[in-house]
This record gives sequence, structure tokens and C-alpha cells, in this order.
Amino acid sequence: MTTALFPGSFDPVTNGHLDIARRAAALFDHLIIGVYADPNKPVLFSVEERVDLFSEAVKDFPNVSVEAYEGLTVEFARRRGAQAMVRGLRVISDFEHESQIALTNSSLAPEIETVCLMYHADYQFLSASLVKELAKLGADIQHLVPPHVASALREKLRQLSPEERERIRMISIRD
Ligand code: ADP
Repeated sequence: MTTALFPGSFDPVTNGHLDIARRAAALFDHLIIGVYADPNKPVLFSVEERVDLFSEAVKDFPNVSVEAYEGLTVEFARRRGAQAMVRGLRVISDFEHESQIALTNSSLAPEIETVCLMYHADYQFLSASLVKELAKLGADIQHLVPPHVASALREKLRQLSPEERERIRMISIRD
């Protein structure tokens, strides 16, 4: 049985992430979405919320499960018996970032292969940060995220104080 891990911050899950998850689920017997609990960038949603949002998005995918994890991604992959780690590639700058991660991971766990899937043409420039920024500015994001994620974003932004809203502005455009 082949198991792959698709790790990321997923703050929140977008249609780009979902496209990668759907295609990876067709390649492996079991796909685990690993939601990194404490990424080194500010997050809008708690790890529990990020897990719930991704779980809802893949509830009809029979061979996909969603879990939070902490610590080294390769250690989590080993604990779950994953032979591969899946990542998505968008713009050219992703290649540099992803190759660094892949090389580091393969030095730590040579038995785990990194498999990069190319973006879908519709989602080339889609990132979770872009979605958050657009939502904050009141733009329509229905074509970028599943409907429940759009509602969660609206609700989250409604609850934020002006200071917290400003903090989102600081969230890096690249994620
Ligand atoms: P991380 O903090 O690990 O980069 P992200 O949640 O931002 O986590 O992204 C997880 C993975 O999904 C990364 O490999 C990223 O390149 C990929 N990804 C993000 N958006 C898209 C998209 N629109 N199309 C394809 N892959 C994407």
C-alpha cells in the first residue's frame, strides 16, 4: 500500500491546494493532509480550524485523511509510514523554495521521495495569503476557495479587531 503526505500550513485551504490533493489522491492508496501546527509565519486560523476546513473540503474523498502535526515533517511522514511527500509547484520562485525543502528532507529521510505536482492553470497565482488579502478587502473569493471556506473567512474577519485586521496585512504574500 502506498501512502503519501501532503504537508502545509493551509491557512486556509484553497482550490489550488484541493486540486493538488485530488490529483495526489489518485496516485496513492492513502493521502494524508498534514496541517503544520506552528508554521514560521503568522496564521489567521488556529490549527484546529485549518484541520476542520480541509477535512470538510475532502469529506467525499475516500482515501484522504487530515491531521495536524508538530515538529519535523519527515518524522511525521515516517510515523505514518509515508513513502512520499507531495508538494505543489506554482510560479518559478516556488521551485527554488520547494527544491530547498526537498533536498533538506531527503538528507534527513532519504527513503521518502518528494513528488511535486504542477499547478492547475486556473490556480497558478492562487495562494492562501492572496485569498486572505482579497477577503479582507471585500472582494469576491467564491471561485478561489470552497464555499465553507469563504464563509469561515468572512466570519473570522468580522470578528477581528482593527489591530488584528492590520496584522493580516503583515502576512507575507508568499506562502
Ligand atoms: P507551506 O507553508 O508549507 O508553503 P502552504 O499551505 O502555503 O504551506 O502550501 C502547501 C503546498 O501547496 C506548497 O507546496 C505550495 O507550493 C502548494 N500550493 C499552494 N497554493 C497552490 C496552488 N495554487 N497550486 C498548486 N500548489 C499550491
